[in-house]
Amino acid sequence: MFKIGCHLSSSKGYNHMAEETVSIGGNTFQFFTRNPRGGAAKPIDPADVELYRKTAAESGISEIIAHAPYTMNPCAATEALREFSLNTMTDDLARLSLTPGALYNFHPGSHVGQGTDAAIELIAELLGKLLAADSENSTPVLLETMAGKGSEVGSKFEELRRIIDLTGGTSRLGVCLDTCHVYDAGYDIVNDLDGVLEEFDRVIGLDRLKAVHLNDSKNPFCSHKDRHEKIGQGSIGTEAFARIVNHPVLRDLPFCLETPHEDISGYAGEIALLKSLRKE
Ligand code: FE
Ligand code: FE
Ligand code: ZN
Repeated sequence: MFKIGCHLSSSKGYNHMAEETVSIGGNTFQFFTRNPRGGAAKPIDPADVELYRKTAAESGISEIIAHAPYTMNPCAATEALREFSLNTMTDDLARLSLTPGALYNFHPGSHVGQGTDAAIELIAELLGKLLAADSENSTPVLLETMAGKGSEVGSKFEELRRIIDLTGGTSRLGVCLDTCHVYDAGYDIVNDLDGVLEEFDRVIGLDRLKAVHLNDSKNPFCSHKDRHEKIGQGSIGTEAFARIVNHPVLRDLPFCLETPHEDISGYAGEIALLKSLRKE
């Protein structure tokens, strides 16, 4: 089955996101676990979760992506800021234990002058504590491939591999591949998708690849900018997305759009476009 959907606002709860997803022809979605700029998460409404489970089961929604707030930094320079990230992520995972099929995606962080090696150790240390605190649950935790903007960690597959290795290689850790980010980072998914996926397999292992963010890029190859563009209107282009959604290695993963649209009707159009590109 083609699992396709988009990033949605979680302000009206889980069931509302499921209904919006159905209304735009999707069967997966992503949401921020809390205000992306930080702050407390809204308390979970058990009645909403119950309703959501029913809607999801009826409409074929089996996997969803919960995105951690992007302003927290797991490899921040101060203990207090790292502690804040750990507490946020621990609380997010506890909440996600209520929604079946959730994948928890986060940005590895920015080294803010400490250097990549030091940052990788801090991220692994945080993940070790996080998974120990959440050991009763099993929500997969995904490191997102990054564009390499500023001092971002995770724009090279080797960096993600080292974080996973330093966390003991636990099977709970996976990777979410963001098409805009990897292209901006210098992985040529336009001219050599096979080669990039072979490299992913060699460095990280394809068994770790759990989800794809579908975004075109406003900037040229290897620009390290991270500005998302609508599908087909950026430097990646429609033909490359046709290959991406049909690639045997990727085609069964959940694909989630994070493209710039004013409202969800824009996503409905993109989902229809991607379905037209998909060969069954
Ligand atoms: Fe992200
Ligand atoms: Fe992304
Ligand atoms: Zn991005």
